Amino acid sequence: MYAEVFAPGTHGGNDRATCSICHTEWPEELEEVEGDRVGPLCRSFREDLGKRLPSAEYLVLGIGAPSAAVDPR
Ligand SMILES: [Zn+2]
Repeated sequence: MYAEVFAPGTHGGNDRATCSICHTEWPEELEEVEGDRVGPLCRSFREDLGKRLPSAEYLVLGIGAPSAAVDPR
């Protein structure tokens, strides 16, 4: 998956639809929050994973189809 992870993304020229974090261009313009335009994927990392990770006891990484987060407790 090297190319999928590290290859430069395309830039169609619409800065208002481009995520400030990962530079993915989305089909619609993104809402600006605190000076950044953040796409739905990066926003989900920040709002879901980013809040849970600091207090997590462990982290499991894998490759698979997207699924809902599961809390083992
Ligand atoms: Zn992004």
